[in-house]
Amino acid sequence: MRWLPNVALETGVRSTRDALYQALYQELSGSVQPSWKSELYALMLSLARDESIQYIQVLASEVSFVFSARGRAETVVGQLLQDFSVSHVYYFARLAVKNAAHFYATGNSKGRNHACNTIPGNMLGTAQDAKARNWRKTAYRDSRVPQSSLHRILYDVVLKDSGAGFSKSPGLYWRDELVPRFFSGDACGADLAGHLQLFCRECESSNVDASMDRMTIQMLCYDCATVSKFQAIEDLID
Ligand SMILES: [Zn+2]
Repeated sequence: MRWLPNVALETGVRSTRDALYQALYQELSGSVQPSWKSELYALMLSLARDESIQYIQVLASEVSFVFSARGRAETVVGQLLQDFSVSHVYYFARLAVKNAAHFYATGNSKGRNHACNTIPGNMLGTAQDAKARNWRKTAYRDSRVPQSSLHRILYDVVLKDSGAGFSKSPGLYWRDELVPRFFSGDACGADLAGHLQLFCRECESSNVDASMDRMTIQMLCYDCATVSKFQAIEDLID
């Protein structure tokens, strides 16, 4: 079996795989386009979040926990990535899992699940302390959490900053490096949102992007990563 891409780079001519690869590579390795803004941000955060959650799961299974507080962990990790790198989050995760295992082993918890559910809150607590007292501790990569090809394409090819996906906080990296470098021109979405006087419901920043379909408006905040959805109350007929 072999794969044929059903894509035409020139009208009516099916592209070969090599030509398609070349074209994609050229576009992605060229300069970062303003129109990629919201996708780039969302991708950066979701990659970092997934790698962090996977690591928590790996550590939890080492101590025979089944990590079930995924939803809560995703919220906490998303929040932490605004100030901390995946490497920092790994450190918080290691400490939290160690504490949870101890909590269980000493018989003070109401069982494995209860002990395991303390992980996200414990990570948040340590992170708040790190932020308040301005300390940072890193952890190494772990081969049990493989880097996805998407991760490598994003950081090696598109951003040309290998390693940043692990060692830099996505939130800070975005605000301090990527926005000034690629998205500070007038043509960028924030001005549109500013003109419409939209702001984030969590942090009131107007650095937001909005998109809508017939019934809902979705807003993404670049400062705190909150996604807000607003739904039309009824479908008005005019
Ligand atoms: Zn916000």
